[in-house]
Amino acid sequence: MTETGTTVEDGSNTRRHRIYVRGTVQGVGFRPFVHQAAADLGLVGWVRNEGSSVAIEVEGPGERLADFRNALEGSPPPLAEVLEVLVTPIEPVGETVFQVLASERRDEPVQVASDIATCADCLAEVLDPDDRRHGYAFTNCTNCGPRFTIVDQVPYDRTNTTMSAFTMCEACRAEYEDTSNRRFHAQPTCCPDCGPSLTLTDLSPDGPPPNDPIDRAAARLLDGEVLAVKGLGGYHLAVLADSESAVERLRSRKHREDKPFAVMVPDLDAAQGLCEVDAIGEDLLTDPARPIVLLRRRPDCPIADAVGPHTTEVGLMLPYTPLHHLLLRAVGRPLVLTSGNASDEPIAYRDDDARRRLAGIADAILSHDRPIRIRTDDSVVRSVAGQPMAIRRSRGFVPDSLRLPVPTRRPVLGVGAELKSTVALADGDRAVVSHHIGDLRHLETHGSFLEAIEHLGRLFQIEPQVVAHDLHPDYLSTAHATGIEGVDLVGVQHHHAHVAACLVDNGRTDEVIGVAFDGTGHGTDGTSWGGEFLVADLAASTRRGHLEVLPLPGGDAAMREPWRMAAVHLAHLGDPMAETPLRGRQPSWDDVVALAGSDLAGRTSSAGRLFDAVAALVGVRDVANYEGQAAIEFEQRVDPSETGAYRAGLFDDGTLVVRGSDLFAAALDDLRTGIDVGRIAARFHHGLADAVVETCDRIRADGGPEVVALTGGVFLNRVLLTRAVEGLEGCGFEVLRHREIPPNDGGISLGQVAVAAAFDRR
Ligand code: ZN
Ligand code: ZN
Ligand code: FE
Repeated sequence: MTETGTTVEDGSNTRRHRIYVRGTVQGVGFRPFVHQAAADLGLVGWVRNEGSSVAIEVEGPGERLADFRNALEGSPPPLAEVLEVLVTPIEPVGETVFQVLASERRDEPVQVASDIATCADCLAEVLDPDDRRHGYAFTNCTNCGPRFTIVDQVPYDRTNTTMSAFTMCEACRAEYEDTSNRRFHAQPTCCPDCGPSLTLTDLSPDGPPPNDPIDRAAARLLDGEVLAVKGLGGYHLAVLADSESAVERLRSRKHREDKPFAVMVPDLDAAQGLCEVDAIGEDLLTDPARPIVLLRRRPDCPIADAVGPHTTEVGLMLPYTPLHHLLLRAVGRPLVLTSGNASDEPIAYRDDDARRRLAGIADAILSHDRPIRIRTDDSVVRSVAGQPMAIRRSRGFVPDSLRLPVPTRRPVLGVGAELKSTVALADGDRAVVSHHIGDLRHLETHGSFLEAIEHLGRLFQIEPQVVAHDLHPDYLSTAHATGIEGVDLVGVQHHHAHVAACLVDNGRTDEVIGVAFDGTGHGTDGTSWGGEFLVADLAASTRRGHLEVLPLPGGDAAMREPWRMAAVHLAHLGDPMAETPLRGRQPSWDDVVALAGSDLAGRTSSAGRLFDAVAALVGVRDVANYEGQAAIEFEQRVDPSETGAYRAGLFDDGTLVVRGSDLFAAALDDLRTGIDVGRIAARFHHGLADAVVETCDRIRADGGPEVVALTGGVFLNRVLLTRAVEGLEGCGFEVLRHREIPPNDGGISLGQVAVAAAFDRR
């Protein structure tokens, strides 16, 4: 409890207000800010956290109370987000001071903030040789530092975080209790005398003797070695990003063939030296969440090709902890920082586990003794057609809550899909989406899925009574949902969930034409969908059109081997023996064509598989080493000077069918006449976008909505999205697109809870 002596003058004008402030107002310096505002205005009363809100009682002259309210709404601390201020006049009680009271535990939902990159004030201290926190890797304050990754339960107080083992020294305690200090009530505050410390552990038998862990770690990196580094939400693996041999070493030890690595650079200038950074890219790079931002490499970019083989983009991020700042400065070169795991496993975040799993990959481990409570991968964003778009929403954004446009009647859990998995919890108008969990088919990921549900439920005190799941009978998430006892289950069609996620991202409830393009999702007819035109609102959805349905020879194998879809299309054109170089490279070509023609093959309307077919046909990629690789590389081949477009037929057999095979056939013709891949890529992308516009136009003409929601992972494609948005807007449509919520399956859990909430109200 803190007291200061601000006395109120006597006067007949004295009023007292009880104020609730809703939003992200805990763990962000809100109470000190309120205290300061009251002190500045000479008001008395108190402030404390109550559940998700901050509660205030404030007393003084009426006009100053108005000023006080303006300050709450107009100039809150940088990390706070004020959603609502509720004011109730009450009887004055005549105190003499303004107090900050301890948190009151209440049985109502609470708001836990996300992790925030080191602020400028803290960085200045870390770099100041005269400061007591000089060179200290765990410096933080109310405006920055760990939150979600260290909190065990609510309320957000030090005892409920992984900092509970560290007792504040006198100097830190004084700052923590000083209302005018930047560290007033900063729960993880610490210093070299009382806080966590770094250690460098050699994993090779004869490492050099210890001295400063950061200098030693830097020396190892400069020798080309692989270093494991304990970060905020897990362990990273680090190597010099501009050393081809160091990056190759990491790739081979991690068993990761092509999937690009992220690169950390010390500041914005360094980022601009490597990549083309537009204004949106600048905002994204410097966002306090510090996501990985996908950017186009400059022609002279010194980053090793092995960082992202076959790609013209690189994911850059800026340092977000003092440890990163210190390490980057000590090394003086850009560093690969990729998740600490072997390919496809979840990121390691527990010390013993990291030591065991990274032993064969890293040469040394730079670790520390502040435990990570929950694994949280780096977030990934991209600027698409003039706006930011989330690709992976995790560290820095989770668990910031989102507003459901239709509130739940009963608390809801959404268990997500299978790949790029997340889970979501919702109560009332508030939804919380978990950190990135990953591919549920891995045993360890499945454990992390269960932990996420339990942990989020505890942090936000939400006990689901309704559980929403995908319709796919074989997804492990579906199996989990159907095994929960005492709840009502709501099965949500995959692409309806994608459309709903886009509606929530835009705060909308109206009926739209949802264009959901992705790799796969279980359709209501039991086939694999993925090129869908749904007329949908949050509660219901009708399939009004789709891409042409073709055989899917060998489900998962078809996803890994794009050439199979090229074979399907060639066979479909009646030209299965077409003498393409592709056919010559695939010994099992004839078997796949035979399989495609049999009853054993599945059927799909997937847009992702259409991209695969054309990309494989023109020689971009026969086999994908990660999900979506062929389509990603195909997009990068687009020649921006080409304006032409293929044309896909549109016919109506009760539902509208876009003949994707026309696009494939046009590409084949162009290939045979020697048109280069860049032009073919452009004409294909343009043709598919134009088909989206034409199909939406037809649905509208039949009485459909005038709003289109573009969703599904395929709409991360810049060329496709840009042309579709331009075409749709040119036809008078309003276009909704994703921003904060990924269009890929990372957004499915949120879409599921939104659908279940709307459904539960009907
Ligand atoms: Zn700070
Ligand atoms: Zn201290
Ligand atoms: Fe999907």
